[in-house]
Amino acid sequence: MRMDVLTLFPEMFEPLRLSILGRAQRDNKLTINVHNIRDYSEDKHKKCDDYPFGGGAGMVMTAQPIVSAVEAIDPEHRARRIFLSPKGETFRQQKVFELLEREWLILLCGHYEGVDERAIEICIDEEISIGDYVLTGGELPAMVVCDCVARYVDGVLNTSSLVQESFSENRLEYPQYTRPVEFRGKVVPEVLRGGNHALIDQWRREQSEAVTSLKRPDLLNGKE
Ligand code: SAM
Repeated sequence: MRMDVLTLFPEMFEPLRLSILGRAQRDNKLTINVHNIRDYSEDKHKKCDDYPFGGGAGMVMTAQPIVSAVEAIDPEHRARRIFLSPKGETFRQQKVFELLEREWLILLCGHYEGVDERAIEICIDEEISIGDYVLTGGELPAMVVCDCVARYVDGVLNTSSLVQESFSENRLEYPQYTRPVEFRGKVVPEVLRGGNHALIDQWRREQSEAVTSLKRPDLLNGKE
């Protein structure tokens, strides 16, 4: 799986070099390239933003550096090109599997008041929002998408970690416990300590159903 991120703030992506995603990149299971949009600006001062036509607050990212960057990285339009935007489709688990199939993603991060609409029209295939709120930039949303997709790439995680977790089969995960058996008077359910795997599976299914019904009843109606 390859992901190319376009941003004005490449330093923000350092966390992707750590932990599970860092190891996956070192093991060549995954490639994440972070590009500075400013490197593609034809302006003599490498400017990448300007005032909005029609007035209003803030600055807008100009189209030229974005379009040049996308066309330089993916001249034959083989990647799925995504703009992180509060106006996009809300990101859900099903979308993770769709993106995984694409094998190559380009993730464009907006900043300031957003991006000149013509850049989106010229070089973007789809817009994704991570939720109904506005962040200062698309960098955190791009990291969310990278992380969610990367954990399903072959060899990145142990496959047993990926079954029965939240949102699989429209259910939330059952409660998890680790040692010690008792903490501040709260004891790990006995069934989990008994070693009977049929009973453990049954308990987990029931708990998963109960937690979903309490916290996300909409999932039970298939409206993930
Ligand atoms: N003026 C824009 C609006 O009202 O729709 C918001 C711009 S926001 C301050 C700057 C950038 O952050 C956006 O261009 C986008 O790339 C990113 N962004 C902000 N909220 C987001 C969200 N919920 N999901 C994905 N990207 C988001």
